[in-house]
Amino acid sequence: MSTPSPLPSPASQPVRIALAGNPNTGKTSVFNRLTGASARVGNYAGVTVEREIGLWTLPSRTVEVMDVPGAYSLAARSAEEQVAIRTVFGLDPGEPRPALVVVVIDATQLVRNLYFAMQLIEARVPVVLALNLMDVARAQGTAPNPERVADILGVPVVPVSAHTGEGMKALASAVERVLVQPDEGRSVVPWRYPKALQADVDTLAGMVTAWSPEEAKAMGRWALLSIDVEDELVDVPEHVRTAVAQIRSKAESEGRDIDTELIGSRYSWLDLQDFGIAANRPDAGLTLTHRIDAWLLHPFFGALTFLFAMGALFQALFSWSDPAIGAIEQLFSWVGMQVQAALPEGLLNDFLVQGVLNGMGSVLVFLPQILLLFFLLGFLEDCGYMARVAFIVDRGMKSLGLHGRAFVPMLSGYACAVPAIMATRTLERQRDRLLTMMVVPLMSCSARLPVYTLIISALFLPDTKILGFLPAPGFMMVFMYVFSTLMALIAAAVLGRTLLKGPKVPLLLELPPYRLPRLATVLRQMWMRARTFLTEAGTTILVCTIVLWGLLAFPRHPVLSEDYAAQRSALPATETEALAHIDAAERAEILERSYGGRLGKQIEPLIAPLGFDWKIGVGLVGAFAAREVFVSTMGVVYGIGDAVDESSTPLRERIRDERRPDGTPVYTPLVGLSLMVFFALSAQCMSTLAVVRRESHSWRWPIFLFTYMTVLAWVASFAVYQGGKLLGL
Ligand code: GDP
Ligand code: MG
Repeated sequence: MSTPSPLPSPASQPVRIALAGNPNTGKTSVFNRLTGASARVGNYAGVTVEREIGLWTLPSRTVEVMDVPGAYSLAARSAEEQVAIRTVFGLDPGEPRPALVVVVIDATQLVRNLYFAMQLIEARVPVVLALNLMDVARAQGTAPNPERVADILGVPVVPVSAHTGEGMKALASAVERVLVQPDEGRSVVPWRYPKALQADVDTLAGMVTAWSPEEAKAMGRWALLSIDVEDELVDVPEHVRTAVAQIRSKAESEGRDIDTELIGSRYSWLDLQDFGIAANRPDAGLTLTHRIDAWLLHPFFGALTFLFAMGALFQALFSWSDPAIGAIEQLFSWVGMQVQAALPEGLLNDFLVQGVLNGMGSVLVFLPQILLLFFLLGFLEDCGYMARVAFIVDRGMKSLGLHGRAFVPMLSGYACAVPAIMATRTLERQRDRLLTMMVVPLMSCSARLPVYTLIISALFLPDTKILGFLPAPGFMMVFMYVFSTLMALIAAAVLGRTLLKGPKVPLLLELPPYRLPRLATVLRQMWMRARTFLTEAGTTILVCTIVLWGLLAFPRHPVLSEDYAAQRSALPATETEALAHIDAAERAEILERSYGGRLGKQIEPLIAPLGFDWKIGVGLVGAFAAREVFVSTMGVVYGIGDAVDESSTPLRERIRDERRPDGTPVYTPLVGLSLMVFFALSAQCMSTLAVVRRESHSWRWPIFLFTYMTVLAWVASFAVYQGGKLLGL
C-alpha cells in the first residue's frame, strides 16, 4: 500500500496535525496547553463533538492542531467515531489530511487506550503517542514505562501531563522529528490476524484500488472491515459496502464473527505485552472512586441518590430561574415602553415593539432555565456522575428500546429540544440516535411552559379542586409534565419495536474516575450549549415572530364593513361602554381581515372538532413556528397589544370572557385541556425540525417527525374534546 506524501504543500498552508484518542483522555486539555486556547473540557464522553483548530508553535515552525472528538475505535459506529475517521484520514472536502496524529492516551488505562492507536498504526498513519495523566498514573503507581511502550509498538512515545505541563517540550520535538521523517511514526504491525480474516482483508484490499486512489490510500484496508454496513460511513462507495456485506455474511455462514476476530487478534496480542506497569500496584489511587461507586451504583442507594439528584435538578430548574425570567420580562416590557414613547406612532413603532422586541424577549426568557440546566448537567458530567447515571438508567431505558446514553438528551429535552437533539451524538448507533431524536421533541420543553401557564391561569382557577382536594392549577401543570413524559416513553417503545427496530446493543460505557469539576470548564460548557440554543433556536424564533407580526399587521388599512369612526362620532363621549364596544368590534374586524386572520379562518374547519375557533387557529399558525409565539399572538388577537406575558391579567380575563356568536364561552376547561394536549404532542418548532434535518442528514426524518407528532396531537385532542363532551364536561 502506498503511503501519503510526508509533508503537505509548502508555505501556503500550515501543516496540520490531529489530536485523537479515546474520550476523556485529556485531548482538549493537551490541545489547550499546546495552543494556549481554552477549548472546553469535560469529564464525560462526547463533550467534544465539533472539531477545534488552533496554532502550535514548534521550535522550527508553526503547525495547525485539531482537537478531534474522542473515539474508542475507528469502527464508524457513532457520529463521533465517524468524525474522528473523517478527520484523521482527511476525508472532508477542503480539509487537509493531518501529517501526523498525536494519540492522547490515558496512562492509567494504557492497555485499553492503545487499541485505538493500534488501528492507526495498522492504517500506516504516522503517530506520536502522548501518555497523558502521567501525574495521576504515578500517584497511583500504575504508570507504564514509556520507553518500553515505544519499543513494543515501534513508534515515538512521550509521557506528558496536561495538568502540570510536563513533557510538552518533548512532545514538540517528537512531533518535529516525525514531521520531517514520517516513517519514524510508522511501524511494522507486530500483531497477526487469523488466516481466514487475513484472506477477507486481502479481498477487500483488492477492491480498494478500485476506489478513488486518494481515499484508498487514506482509508486503509482495515477500516473497510470495521464498517458496519447498517451504519453509514458517509462516502463509502456502494460496491465496497456491498463487498463488506458479502464478506460479513459469508463469514457468518461459516460460523465466524469478524468483529470478534478483529478485536480478539488485537487484544490477545496486547495482553501479552509487558509495558512495565508496576506489578504490585497499590490500589490506593483508584479506591476512592471504587468506594464512591459502591454507593452510587448500588441497586438501592444508587437509585435513591439518582432520584434525589434529578429531583434537585428539576426543583432548581423551575424555581431558581424564576427571578431571572421575571427580570428579563420586565426589562423587555420597559424597553418596549421606552421605544413606543420615543418613536412616533405608526408602522416602524409597531414593527420594533411588537415584532422585534417581542421576538427577542420571547427567545431570551428561556435563557435562565437553559443556562441553569446546562450548568447543573455540566457539573454532573464533569465530576463523572453523568456516566453513572447512564449506567443506572440503562436497564429501564433498554426495556423501552432506548439506549442508556439517551438519558441525557431526554433530560435536556425538558429545557429545549434543540441542544437535546445535538446531544444525541454521544450515541453509538444511528438507529439509537434516530429513535432518541424522534422522541425528544415530546418531552415538555420550556417553550410549552408559557402556553400552559396562560391556559391554566385563565381556565383553572385556584379555588377549583380536582378529586375534591387537589388545587386545579398545580395539578394540571404536573399532569401536563407527566403526560408528555409518558407519551415520549410510549412513543419510544412503539417506534423502537416497529419503524426503528434494531438489536439491543450492550452499553459500552467508560466510568471515568470522579474528579472535582473545574468551574471554568463547567461555565464554558454551559455557554457553548446556550450559544447553540441562541443561534439555532433563537434566530428561527425571532424571524418567525416578525413574520407573524407582519401577517397580523397587514394589510394596513383594510376596507371595513362598517364606518366605525362615524358610529363613534354619533355618540356622546359619556357613553364609554358603547364606545369601547365599537372599538372592540373594529379591532376584531381588522384582525379578521388581516392575512393571519384569513389563515386562521381557513384552518378553522380542521380544528373545530378539537374545540378551537379561528382565533385560536391564528395562534396555532404562529405556534407552528415556535410554540411560545402563541402567547404573544393571542395578545395581538385579543387586542391586548404589546408586552403581554402569560401571567398578564388582561389577557387571562379576555380569554375567560371570550364568547362565541351564540354567547357560550369559547374557552371552557375542556377546550383548555384539549389545547394543552395539542401543544404537548405537536411538532410546533421549526428549529427542532431544522436540527433533526441537519443531524440525520436527510429530509425523511424531520418530515416523519412532523407528521407523526401532528397526527398524534390532532387525534389526542380530538379524543379529549369529543370524549369530554360525551361525558358532559
Ligand atoms: P478529552 O475528552 O479527551 O478532550 O478530555 P478533557 O481534556 O476534556 O479532560 C478530561 C478530564 O481529565 C478533565 O477533567 C481534565 O481536567 C482532566 N485531565 C486532563 N489531562 C489531565 C492530566 O494530565 N492530569 C490530570 N490530573 N487531569 C487531567
Ligand atoms: Mg475534548
